[in-house]
Amino acid sequence: MLQIEFDLRAEGDELPDAFLDSTELELMFAGTRRSTGDSLRRKFAAVVCGEHGSAPKFTISGVYDRATEQMDLRYHVDTCCQSFLLRVMQILNQRE
Ligand SMILES: [Zn+2]
Repeated sequence: MLQIEFDLRAEGDELPDAFLDSTELELMFAGTRRSTGDSLRRKFAAVVCGEHGSAPKFTISGVYDRATEQMDLRYHVDTCCQSFLLRVMQILNQRE
């Protein structure tokens, strides 16, 4: 079973004329969870390690910088072994 965890947060002081207010930011986070989660579930629905039978575990960290209004998303992948990690990274980097 594919495990996906999200750690999304905002940093910095809100600009006076912020592009996203806190409600919109929550909606943006929710949308990020949904679209990133859907994409991972699609790509990894049937992917398990051939040797150990384990599914990968993903942790998606996202920091929204209020000052620059940019979102930085990082994928952290846990796998049972190095060779499966390489396979997961290949699949992760494939275009949809
Ligand atoms: Zn393995």
